[in-house]
Amino acid sequence: MSLREQLCDYGRRAVELGLVIGTSGNLSVRQGDLVAVTPSGAALDRLTPEMCPIVDVEGYLVEGELQPSSETPMHLAVYETTGTQAVVHTHSVFGTVVATTMAELPPVHYNALLLGGVVKVAEYATYGTPELAANVRAALAGKQAALMANHGGVTIGATLEQAFEATRLLEWLCEVYVRGLGVGKPAILTEEQLAAVVERSLNPPSFPRR
Ligand SMILES: [Zn+2]
Repeated sequence: MSLREQLCDYGRRAVELGLVIGTSGNLSVRQGDLVAVTPSGAALDRLTPEMCPIVDVEGYLVEGELQPSSETPMHLAVYETTGTQAVVHTHSVFGTVVATTMAELPPVHYNALLLGGVVKVAEYATYGTPELAANVRAALAGKQAALMANHGGVTIGATLEQAFEATRLLEWLCEVYVRGLGVGKPAILTEEQLAAVVERSLNPPSFPRR
């Protein structure tokens, strides 16, 4: 599947799963020095490959009639720092709730390790600005996900599928935590408990054959 076709596919899924409403949210995927990105102001479930602009890593428009998403500078900054291959940004409900009320998402479930443990909330800055790009870059250091204060979430991956699944996991973790706060005081996993999970995943049980 071409990079642009992938954007159409995952754009549609993002809307279907309720991670994105209307035109809020944007996706990009990189190959070499080129980045295919969703266009500005278009509904993500109605994209066609031709609608998706291609920019180079310096931010010059290489192909496409429509303007790239206004968050493209943030995507490019993330590529520059992390060397990742795909970026997904949404305004999903529970991610935005956490990003509006907290400084970080604590690890309430061991699957948080798949995102790098604690998910930090990047300091607020106006959308599309170099300040926001810098804040996101800092919050993402060594991690697969970050939240953006009063805005939403961003995840990265070696493929668009991985970045997309990271966004689904981020939203699920935020939902568990937010709903947990409504029921009681969610327990936070300790460093020791998380280290034990890593140890366990490195040494899975083996089942001998009969
Ligand atoms: Zn946004």
